[in-house]
Amino acid sequence: LVSRKKKPEDTIIEINGDKFGDGNQHFIFGPCAVESYEQVAQVAAEIKKKGLKLLRGGAFKPRTSPYDFQGLGFEGLKILKQVADEYDLAVVSEIVNPAHIEKAIEYIDVIQIGARNMQNFELLKAAGETNKPVLLKRGMSATISDFINAAEYINSRGNGDIILCERGIRTYEKATRNTLDITAVPILKQETHLPVMVDVTHSTGRRDLLLPAAKAALAIGADGVMAEVHPDPAVALSDSAQQMDFDMFDAFFKELTKNK
Ligand code: PEP
Ligand code: MN
Repeated sequence: LVSRKKKPEDTIIEINGDKFGDGNQHFIFGPCAVESYEQVAQVAAEIKKKGLKLLRGGAFKPRTSPYDFQGLGFEGLKILKQVADEYDLAVVSEIVNPAHIEKAIEYIDVIQIGARNMQNFELLKAAGETNKPVLLKRGMSATISDFINAAEYINSRGNGDIILCERGIRTYEKATRNTLDITAVPILKQETHLPVMVDVTHSTGRRDLLLPAAKAALAIGADGVMAEVHPDPAVALSDSAQQMDFDMFDAFFKELTKNK
């Protein structure tokens, strides 16, 4: 169903007036994790100032260590929804448990399925039974074919509103957190009709690489870029090393959109 051979035209997914897949560049920004109302509201204000339409934030955090901050859960989703309503933004947030989907979609506009759950087939099927767009991230050890099959799981249950997100894969390279597989973007665009984004935060894990990685993503044909923004990254409860503060966010966004 997701194959370009079956449907030659690009799929366009409209979210809060933003049309992903329409050939323009789209952006998803927000903190790694929802920490408080105040923290999310500050980020939302910066996003709104830029005329952007979406707000991301993790409430259910799939952390590598069980002792790290696990997220605020449904409380976090309520904060996101409250802030998003105040700033007229659409909410993108990760769901990790298929049983949470029904309740979660009262609060979120886009269901994010994270790298660690790309092959959680019950979760894919549950997301496929909703009418909410799904932001599907590539698994860190997934081939492009595995990734496309994961999207197919969602679509096979009836939901074709899927945005693919390259977020880096595991290799032997240690200079970056993951290795951004930049050519996955044109391959996914050739093989599927779905919009393709690049997450520059989790692929690089390095603040100094966010801008060059984002430029590369857009130059190679990505429909958009995702990156994490925090009012004070030094005290962030997760991904402190790679979230942007507001000055950096301004410079990043200005540079990416300067010819637009
Ligand atoms: C995220 O975007 O919040 C996240 C956890 O990313 P990934 O699933 O790509 O690691
Ligand atoms: Mn993060």
